[in-house]
Amino acid sequence: TQYIYRFGGGVSDGGKGDKNLLGGKGANLAEMASIGLPVPPGFTISTAMCTRYYDEGQAFPASVRDEVANGLRHVEGITGKVFGDPANPLLVSVRSGARVSMPGMMDTVLNLGLNDATVEGLAAISADPRFAWDSYRRFIQMYADVVLELDHGRFEEALEIAKEDQGFYLDTELSADDLRKLVAEYKALVQELWGKPFPQDVHDQLWGAVGAVFGSWQSERAKVYRRLNDIPGDWGTAVNVQAMVFGNMGETSATGVAFTRDPSTGENGYYGEFLINAQGEDVVAGIRTPQYLTKAAREAAGAKPASMEEAMPQVYGELARTFDLLERHYRDMQDIEFTVEQAKLWMLQTRSGKRTAKAALKIAVDMAEEGLITEEEAVLRVEPSALDQLLHPTLDPDAPRDVLTKGLPASPGAASGKVVFDADTAERAAANGEAVILVRVETSPEDIHGMHAAKGILTARGGMTSHAAVVARGMGRPCVSGAGTLSIVAKDKIMRCGDREIREGDILTIDGATGQVMVGAVATIQPELAGDFGTLMVWADKVRRLRVRTNAETPDDCRTAREFGAEGIGLCRTEHMFFEASRITSVRQMILAENEAGRRAALDKLLPEQRSDFAEIFEVMVGLPCTIRLLDPPLHEFLPHEEAEFEDVATATGIDIEKLKRRAAELHEFNPMLGHRGCRLGVTYPEIYEMQARAIFMAACDVAEKSGEAPVPEVMIPLVATRRELELMKLVVDKAAGEVFAERGRTIEYLVGTMIELPRAALKAGEIAEQAEFFSFGTNDLTQTTLGVSRDDAARFLSVYVEKGIYARDPFVSIDVEGVGELIALAAERGRATRPDIKLGICGEHGGDPASIAFCEQVGLDYVSASPYRVPIARLAAAQAAL
Ligand code: PEP
Ligand code: MG
Repeated sequence: TQYIYRFGGGVSDGGKGDKNLLGGKGANLAEMASIGLPVPPGFTISTAMCTRYYDEGQAFPASVRDEVANGLRHVEGITGKVFGDPANPLLVSVRSGARVSMPGMMDTVLNLGLNDATVEGLAAISADPRFAWDSYRRFIQMYADVVLELDHGRFEEALEIAKEDQGFYLDTELSADDLRKLVAEYKALVQELWGKPFPQDVHDQLWGAVGAVFGSWQSERAKVYRRLNDIPGDWGTAVNVQAMVFGNMGETSATGVAFTRDPSTGENGYYGEFLINAQGEDVVAGIRTPQYLTKAAREAAGAKPASMEEAMPQVYGELARTFDLLERHYRDMQDIEFTVEQAKLWMLQTRSGKRTAKAALKIAVDMAEEGLITEEEAVLRVEPSALDQLLHPTLDPDAPRDVLTKGLPASPGAASGKVVFDADTAERAAANGEAVILVRVETSPEDIHGMHAAKGILTARGGMTSHAAVVARGMGRPCVSGAGTLSIVAKDKIMRCGDREIREGDILTIDGATGQVMVGAVATIQPELAGDFGTLMVWADKVRRLRVRTNAETPDDCRTAREFGAEGIGLCRTEHMFFEASRITSVRQMILAENEAGRRAALDKLLPEQRSDFAEIFEVMVGLPCTIRLLDPPLHEFLPHEEAEFEDVATATGIDIEKLKRRAAELHEFNPMLGHRGCRLGVTYPEIYEMQARAIFMAACDVAEKSGEAPVPEVMIPLVATRRELELMKLVVDKAAGEVFAERGRTIEYLVGTMIELPRAALKAGEIAEQAEFFSFGTNDLTQTTLGVSRDDAARFLSVYVEKGIYARDPFVSIDVEGVGELIALAAERGRATRPDIKLGICGEHGGDPASIAFCEQVGLDYVSASPYRVPIARLAAAQAAL
């Protein structure tokens, strides 16, 4: 096996396709060398060597020593210098380089090959001996830090003292003699801290550094990073050994880093920093303030020190041409490191640059318009979930923040406001024009009006699919849920976090993108849905197959979703309409009624309300399919709790209050999620579904009469497990439709279908499809019932499950493809076998998750349905899944 790959001087043993073997850095160095760019010669020790090094008990096979010797001869041949030769010493850099760039690993050792003899040689052949001694002291300091792992602070301290002694401020003010003395101090420090003298044999230095790079692959920091980023431990890292070029050889030398476009805005202009007479680490370490690359950037910043464009116009010109060449070659924005040694440019690294969501969008669209990439490639270049950042106000990254605690990033966006501890207060304050943050231990459907009124929602309990999270995402309200360190005493209007107290009226800021909770107001930045966003969406829509609908139940949310491109409603949760103040008493009257007649009396009052709800929604969504789900949650969720609420119902119905309370107590359930909910309500009290169906069809007729265009209602029955349940409910719906159409003298096309959200329903999908014209996978409940994990209690332990690798991701966020996914695939297949044209969709939270959308594409569903603010994400993810 070959372990060493050379580059430079017209040789390239590898190229950009060899990242697995050479690591990202090594592959790109070879690539740059092969396209004729000035790359200092060197060689890469492959990742395969890293694997073998560990297999053989952290030892190097003899053959590799020979190969490295060959590699060094390659470099010596090109540079005319000799490794370890005091008369004409070759110095090298040693850098790690895994397939993906990985913080936590040993990074770089520069100036390797200097010792007490070669430093003298280097001093003798340089114009200024200061340069040699500066390089030697840098080398010892770096080697001591990253290879010997000695206390870096002690070396910094010695350097500071050396400067102070002379009254100097900058490193560059130290003379050759000062540096020579510093080197002696550094060597004494190594002896003191390491117990051995600083290695003088240059080959020992090299193998020490190579061993340190390999060793760093298994460092704790690297392991943690790999775990967090799903990087396999057996990839290993490569090591790059490369001839040094010197940015610290005086005023015609420099070093810098640059992006070919602005990585935070995406603006098409070079963006970067450089330092004259410095080595790479000086730019990163912030020891001196770097200078601007371009004149325009310097002027825009009102800065004085000359830009590179002004200070070194010729080299700058060559650099700019290289930027253009690299961008064209890699067809992406590049992140570049370079050094200028005595007016000669050298390229040290190039890679695709990291960027913000905004920049990713702009760069993708610009590059497609420049003809550098295709529209389809542009669609693939933007991370769908990154769009979230663009659709909500975000915190100003430069604003100071006083972080109180952290919860789950349940619904993105940032919001500040006065703390309130209950929904009614939130509504009142909002009506007075105040911005409020609703803080609850957890939320229930009764809090909806308060959640709507609030700018943001904060809860101490509940996971990513808790009520608060789902509703907040639906409304586009920022939400932090499950902030477990908060102790909230709502009745006293106070919460505590450690030794801090927050009272009603105090200002908090929440960041739903990170889960951070801050005391006081933090400045925010408004989203820009400017041209690039729209352009990319058009391109995405051209290639996607999956339709994208929305989960929405208010006309406002429907409008938002349409603006974001929703192609219909995939789930309208009608229970949310039952909580409006004007109707809750009738709802309670219905629940507490002792018989059908009592229920019907209450339902008669609700019918016109529901009818107008649906009519408003149909008007907004005119021409588009609207899936309306009949009542789903257990009835007791609507029950009165407070004395006054019972009194309201007693007054409205004339029923004795004690009797009402007894009836309420009877409705208690031990496990309401598996209790009297979903179609079980419709089976036991068909009049409820009958009223809702009537309201839907009356509203549809109303809108058809008014606008001339009929909506397409799709009536959906929740929590079905058996064919017979659906058959019974379909009879109720069809009967209501027939009656309404007869009354109105018109017919409207509609569908009746079911949610598939129980494993039995998935298994019996073939039979159920005899009754169902569509299936909508309710993956929230399907996940809950398949895994046997309560969606409201999962947050407490699921993160440990993810940490321990039991589930790759939170299964309530991203579909458990192996388990829940298999049920979906099977149900789709069985449903289609019965009814080939059955419409298939998904309306659980997963409908807005890119990985789950990719799965839906694979199974061939017809549509996904996502909350309004996730509609653009779903459109992009669906496009990527189709490509
Ligand atoms: C589901 O269970 O996935 C669903 C969409 O319904 P809900 O979240 O309202 O239970
Ligand atoms: Mg459900």
